[in-house]
Amino acid sequence: MTPPQQILIVGGGTAGWMAACLLRQRWAARGVAVTLVESPEIGTVGVGEGSTPYLRGFFATLGIAERDWMPACDATYKCGIRFPGWSTVPGYESYVHPFFNEADRELGNQFFTNACLRRRGQAADANPQDFFLAAELARQRRAPHDLTEGPATDYAYHFDASKLGAFLHTHAVGRGVRHVEGTVARVEQHENGDIAAVHLANGERLAADLFVDCSGFKGLLINETLGEPFLPFADNLFNDRAVAMPTALVESEDIPSETVSTALRHGWAWQIPLTSRYGNGYVYSSAFVSDDEAECELRAHLGAAAEGVEARRLRMRVGRVARHWSHNCVAIGLAQGFIEPLEATALMLIQLSVEQFIGALEAGDFGPRHREAYNRRVNEMFEGVRDYVVAHYRLNTRHDTDYWRANRAHPNVSDRLASLLDVWDRGGDFEAELERHGPALMYLRPSWYALFAGMGRFPAELRPAPGAVTAAQARGRLGRMAAAFFSHRGALMGR
Ligand SMILES: Cc1cc2nc3c(=O)[nH]c(=O)nc-3n(C[C@H](O)[C@H](O)[C@H](O)COP(=O)(O)OP(=O)(O)OC[C@H]3O[C@@H](n4cnc5c(N)ncnc54)[C@H](O)[C@@H]3O)c2cc1C
Repeated sequence: MTPPQQILIVGGGTAGWMAACLLRQRWAARGVAVTLVESPEIGTVGVGEGSTPYLRGFFATLGIAERDWMPACDATYKCGIRFPGWSTVPGYESYVHPFFNEADRELGNQFFTNACLRRRGQAADANPQDFFLAAELARQRRAPHDLTEGPATDYAYHFDASKLGAFLHTHAVGRGVRHVEGTVARVEQHENGDIAAVHLANGERLAADLFVDCSGFKGLLINETLGEPFLPFADNLFNDRAVAMPTALVESEDIPSETVSTALRHGWAWQIPLTSRYGNGYVYSSAFVSDDEAECELRAHLGAAAEGVEARRLRMRVGRVARHWSHNCVAIGLAQGFIEPLEATALMLIQLSVEQFIGALEAGDFGPRHREAYNRRVNEMFEGVRDYVVAHYRLNTRHDTDYWRANRAHPNVSDRLASLLDVWDRGGDFEAELERHGPALMYLRPSWYALFAGMGRFPAELRPAPGAVTAAQARGRLGRMAAAFFSHRGALMGR
């Protein structure tokens, strides 16, 4: 069987353009025509400025070098995410979720050992920020690039969302994707429910064999047309709003190479460094704080830098559709679902969803044979990421507001997360527990350790831990290792 000859993507946000690039790249040689229609009136969500390391694979697949896309998108390197204020446990008031490096092998193992000792009542140092190279690189504002071409380091990016969209648009159109501006006013279906065509407000009809719904939170095709239910995650992810505002960089300082996600009274604030500015925002729950109060709180958090800066208010639909691929339509991006941006996973889920869709379609001879398996796998990915994000809230130890107390107390955690917490807390075999869940967890062993240990989830009463590597010893070694890495600004300018 041959691939669908006409693919129509509805939506020109990051999801639409990422899907266009990947689908065209994969099937251009087989004569597949890809068209993308977007509404100039509706616009894009315009946020989403941090990635996971998966984005490196996305650009590698397209054959686009960092020097070609990073300057065009004001992009910077990201060594990990720092989380100040989530925990009140002494010594664990801030921690880092680092990206992991070959160079971490020795000290990383020491960290796992220390975390286990502490879990079982011995006072070994176990804050991940003291044991991972990426944390030290971020502390020194260095790039994840080694002057001596030492062991490979993993990393991700920060970028201007609108500029990334524009860059991918140009790339896709240059590779033969047809771009149409227009607002979809009506969707035409075949008798069996498959989508036949979309009709634009100007009367134009766009027909296709396969439709990709990238229309954002509204889910124009997947929800509104095909009636696929949306399953909210509101019972364990409370945040449903955000307010965003940019601030200026401090010119005299090097550019940070990490995202900072600071816990505030009713949610958390991101700070994402670009080469041109900081992107900032406060993600919060409308059940606990009003939009006005949240904006005031963000302004107070940012201080003088936010004076006179206009704020953008956003609503978030958190959850996922029941089935991402239904009839001849696959939903990608905010249309398929969204897990609040604490771990900056949305672009990763877009990329993985498209890649897995291509795989499922090809493996099924371009028919729907693997549709249900695809839906199960994408649901598993969403739920794996959700559990990891929920765990941050579950492990918080703040007492200042009902918001934080409610996040800790509600009973709505998955069996999987409940079991991980139980094994950790009673000093059981955490490794075996991680292995038992396998790839469904989405996050690997170091990430789970970094989160549980980083929040200071340990017994209060501790006995001495003779012989354990101390934080000071580990930091001394990391300091020497980090000296071999480029300054962040230097690496960005030398690109
Ligand atoms: C507060 C916040 C912070 C975030 N932070 C991150 C982050 O750090 N990292 C990350 O990976 N992700 C993040 N995200 C998610 C990220 O922004 C999105 O996943 C990404 O931008 C993709 O959006 P999209 O393309 O699905 O939707 P949108 O950007 O909303 O695009 C929708 C498109 O559909 C078109 N459209 C809609 N209706 C019609 C119609 N009737 N006719 C024609 N076209 C139509 C619009 O014109 C638009 O082009 C964040 C999201 C939010 C809300």
